[in-house]
Amino acid sequence: QIGSRAVEREVDSVCPYCGVGCQISYKIRDGEIAYVEGREGPANENRLCVKGRFGFDYISNPQRLTKPLIRRENAPKGLNIDPANPLTHFRETSWDEALGLAAGGLNRIRKDHGGHAIAGFGSAKGSNEEAYLFQKLIRQAFGTNNVDHCTRLCHASSVAALMEGIGSGAVTAPFTDALQADVIIVIGANPTENHPVAATYFKQAAKAGARLIVMDPRGHALRNHASDLVQFRPGSDVALLNAMMHVIVAEELYDRQYVQAHTEGFDKLSAHLARYTPEAMAPVCGIEAGRIRELARAYAQAERAMIFWGMGVSQHTHGTDNARCLISLALMTGHVGRPGTGLHPLRGQNNVQGASDAGLIPMVLPDYAKVSDPATRERFEALWGFAIDPQPGLTVVEIIEAIHREEIRAMYIMGENPAMSDPDVAHAREALAALDHLVVQDIFLTETAMFADIILPASAWPEKTGTVTNTNRQVQMGRPALPPPGDAREDLAIIIDLARHLGLDWDYTHPREVFAEMAQVMPSMANISWERLEREGAVTYPCPAPDEPGSAIVFGDGFPREGGRGLFVPADVTDPAELPDEAFPLVLTTGRQLEHWHTGAMTRRASVLDAIEPGPSASLHPDTLARLGIAPGETIRVETRRGAISLPARADTALQSRMVFIPFAYVEAAANILTNPVLDPYGKIPEFKFCAARVAREIVA
Ligand code: SF4
Repeated sequence: QIGSRAVEREVDSVCPYCGVGCQISYKIRDGEIAYVEGREGPANENRLCVKGRFGFDYISNPQRLTKPLIRRENAPKGLNIDPANPLTHFRETSWDEALGLAAGGLNRIRKDHGGHAIAGFGSAKGSNEEAYLFQKLIRQAFGTNNVDHCTRLCHASSVAALMEGIGSGAVTAPFTDALQADVIIVIGANPTENHPVAATYFKQAAKAGARLIVMDPRGHALRNHASDLVQFRPGSDVALLNAMMHVIVAEELYDRQYVQAHTEGFDKLSAHLARYTPEAMAPVCGIEAGRIRELARAYAQAERAMIFWGMGVSQHTHGTDNARCLISLALMTGHVGRPGTGLHPLRGQNNVQGASDAGLIPMVLPDYAKVSDPATRERFEALWGFAIDPQPGLTVVEIIEAIHREEIRAMYIMGENPAMSDPDVAHAREALAALDHLVVQDIFLTETAMFADIILPASAWPEKTGTVTNTNRQVQMGRPALPPPGDAREDLAIIIDLARHLGLDWDYTHPREVFAEMAQVMPSMANISWERLEREGAVTYPCPAPDEPGSAIVFGDGFPREGGRGLFVPADVTDPAELPDEAFPLVLTTGRQLEHWHTGAMTRRASVLDAIEPGPSASLHPDTLARLGIAPGETIRVETRRGAISLPARADTALQSRMVFIPFAYVEAAANILTNPVLDPYGKIPEFKFCAARVAREIVA
């Protein structure tokens, strides 16, 4: 069928799913997207995964919101609403009434309780311009820094460690540089499912002779292409990495010259590592001492080596410590700043890098400028023309707790779904229900929108103009293939209109004006203009000149820290917050699947993806299932101290015997009912990758 009739138009844009940032072309026929093809983008070179290629028809799903909605009087808040029939609980209205009521409610809370009683969740699925204006609206209209987004749930701890260690929260080299590396470590990441096109470069490098080392408690699909699978015990990352560094120091395999020229704190780290011998750490991490030595030697002695990591590293109470160890490994071996070397946290959402850069974070303004720094505030106050609150705001999970304490009373949520994505989600849903005023802007009646007072129907990515920044720091241009349906509007226009209803004198008329303002306040955007992005499609930041492509590899001659040196920060082994015991003997870990993206709002409404993975499942090792007397496909009950869910069991030899893995995309068996809301103290990220659980066959009465 594809290609049987000529398409009417082709629109060049970027994939709306993961942080790889594949460039795509929408092929339009009969007013619909007929199919999608990859383009020759810097991150994908025509490649696409199943989500990018087939996951587009969610935009024409009949459940799209097409009119502003207002909750009917006395309609209960909660998940018992059919997303196909919101009119049981909401009534349709005009934009004017919806925006008037949305702004009126927010202004009332500000007047009665102060601006700190309001919080906003922006989106990593929107554009840079939307993220920038969203954080500016919250800071300007309410005088608070209570604005955050899902970076808090994915790489906040990685960013905390990177800012501390090398003075920059972004990657030091693109994933395509894996093709230049001799050794590639992929730790706590499952790129074959979560960054599939990036994974193709790792596979290609391995095929060409690079040593690909997969380190993960789950032996996921990339192991089939790897030379090594290091399946360490869940939560023991610091033990393993410290032991590797112990070997590198003890055997003097570190790069003495690099350490002297470009780092500080090495002596302190060396002393700290003395007790972390491979022999001492082997029982902790479950990897033999001889193997730890061999891995350490391989990484240190490689001419060029890269480290890639994902949420298996970051989503722990010791997530920042995990990332600190990876940074130290790279610094002591000088594997930074050259082709085929580097540190690369694989960013999750298509624009989580850009949304973070744009200041959608409670403790920093655009380009990670600290709100607590008076000189920083003065600079932004001069540019923006309003006073900035010196107090860092609350983070995603802290906001939920603040609602329970009645300190936060109103929220504006754009394109995020905390009623599915937050840890201990029953507790989070109670918080959303308790808000005095909730404004949700989205394309579907998401689980979060079911708690809203006002719903603003927004645009899907293929319906909007805007830029996004991928995991490689490549800023790319997205273009609209189709208009939003019905009365739905582009998100940027909604934010601007809401700002005006809140009394702000904003006069933006096009995303290019917002981008121009961003380029003015954000040094990272220097030499990148809207016109240039329209012309070239992608430019990497930092970019030294308007006619240069941008710096793919950074920090060859020092780091953007005071003194220009990278900092070694020692980390101690600490246990996850909730260890298995007799009552809850298994370790629950959660994550994504190839076919479903995050809370499933888009992919579960994409027909091809939904057909491949139509329902939830819990994966356990076949031996564990056999021991529990459970056959694959049988319904099981998975329980933690927060709650229980029922779902079919799936056998998976990739898991260790004490583990259970559940994807968090399915509302009918929401994995986050089970997860532990305890936070990493630095990144404030929840421990999604470890809590104690028990599993039993579901007894049907
Ligand atoms: Fe989209 Fe990521 Fe797949 Fe590329 S790898 S097509 S960006 S989901």
